[in-house]
Amino acid sequence: MTDGPSYGFDTLQIHAGARPDPATGARQVPIYQTTAYVFRDADHAAALFNLQEVGYIYSRLTNPTVAALQERMATLEGGAGAVCCSSGHAAQIMALFPLMGPGKNIVASTRLYGGTITQFSQTIKRFGWSATFVDFDDLDAVKAAIDDDTRAVFCESIANPGGYITDLDAISAISDDAGIPLIVDNTSATPYLCRPIEHGATLVVHSMTKYLTGNGTVTGGVVVDSGKFDWSANDKFPSLSEPEPAYHGLKFHETFGPLAFTFHGIAIGLRDLGMTLNPQAAHYTLMGIETLSLRMQKHVENAMEVASWLEAHDAVEAVTYAGLPSSPYNDRVARICPKGAGGLFTVRLKGGYDACVKFVDSLEIFSHVANLGDTRSLVIHSASTTHRQLTPEQQEAAGAGPSVVRISIGIEDPADLIADLNQALNASK
Ligand SMILES: *Cc1c(COP(=O)(O)O)cnc(C)c1O
Repeated sequence: MTDGPSYGFDTLQIHAGARPDPATGARQVPIYQTTAYVFRDADHAAALFNLQEVGYIYSRLTNPTVAALQERMATLEGGAGAVCCSSGHAAQIMALFPLMGPGKNIVASTRLYGGTITQFSQTIKRFGWSATFVDFDDLDAVKAAIDDDTRAVFCESIANPGGYITDLDAISAISDDAGIPLIVDNTSATPYLCRPIEHGATLVVHSMTKYLTGNGTVTGGVVVDSGKFDWSANDKFPSLSEPEPAYHGLKFHETFGPLAFTFHGIAIGLRDLGMTLNPQAAHYTLMGIETLSLRMQKHVENAMEVASWLEAHDAVEAVTYAGLPSSPYNDRVARICPKGAGGLFTVRLKGGYDACVKFVDSLEIFSHVANLGDTRSLVIHSASTTHRQLTPEQQEAAGAGPSVVRISIGIEDPADLIADLNQALNASK
C-alpha cells in the first residue's frame, strides 16, 4: 500500500509497511525465519556491503518481517525512518549511541520508568556518558542543566509511574534553542494518544513490549527518527556528520539526508551492538498494532472510570490520573494527548507501606507484575520493586514513594475491576 496522507490512523495501523508477499501473495506479513539472504551475484553483494544498494544481507542488520514493523512504526509516529531493537532499553541505548561519546551528557526528566533511571544514573557511566536529572515542569531548571557537553534531552510523553503529562512543546523549544535533539519515550502513550514529533521531538523511542504488542508476549523496542534534525549544523554529532572509517569515509548525513540516523542505526548500531529484534517478536508486535486504537480507547475509558471511583474511596489519599479534573496535568491532555491520558496512574493509600502491600496481595483480577500496557490489569508496588534501586529522594521525585501503588488499567469490564479494587482496599485497612 502507498501511504497517502489521506489515510487515517485506523487504516495505517493495519496496512502501513505491509504488502502482499511478492513470492506467495500471503496477505499477512510472513515470519521470515532466516539468518541470511542469497546475493544475486558478487556485484550485488558488494553494493549491499558498501551501502550503495538497500537490501538484505544478514538478519542482525535487516529482516523483511522486522522491516515491515519499522515502516509501520515510522508511519504511525510521522517519522522518516525507524530501527527496531530487542527491547525498550536497547532502543534507548541505540538512540543515544550515535549522539554520545566519553564526557558527554544528557539532561533527563526525574519522572521516568524505574529501569531507565537506573540505566541512565548507573550503567551508561561505563561508557563515559552521564545524565543530569531535573524536574521537567521547571523549565528554567531544564535550561540551566544543559551545558556544552549535553547531546540530548530525554523525557517520557506520559511519564511513569503517575501518568504525568510532559509539556513537549515547551521542552522542545528549549532543546531547539540549545541545538540538541529531544528524545521522547512514547511507550505509555503510543502514537494513538500522542505524536511527539508534532510537538518538536527529534527521536521517539518505545518499549514495544507494552501497549504496541499489547498482550504481554514479547520484548521489543524501536527508535523512530523524525528526519528533521540538522546533524551537520555544528560539530557536536561527528558520528553522523563526519567521515565514517568503517565505510570508506562515508558521511551518513551528507549521503542519506533525513534517513541518516536510521541508516546509522542499522549499519553501525545493529551491526556492532547487535541488539536486534527477532522476526517472531516483530510478527507478534505487528499483530498487536493492528488493534492498537481499539485497545487504547478502551484503556482510556476504563482508566477514567476506575480512577474517578478510586479518588472517592475513603482508603485513598490521592490518585494521579491526568484525565481527572483534579490533576495538575489535566490542562495538558487536550494539547499533548488529545485522545486521552492513557491507562497508567498511581494511587496513594492513607494506610502507607503496609496497606499497599496488603492491597496488592488481596487483588484477584489485577496481577502483581513488573509490566504495564497489557490487556490485563496490572499493579505494582514500585517502592519495593521497580524503583527499589533508587534512593528515597529519587523515589519521591519519581512519584514512587512507599505509600504509592502503580496501576496499569486493562481492557476488562470496568465494573469487575472496581469490584476487585473495592474488596482489596477494604482488606488493606
Ligand atoms: C518498559 C519500559 C521501558 C523498558 O522497555 P523494555 O522493553 O522492558 O526493555 C522503557 N520505558 C518505558 C516507559 C517502559 O514502560
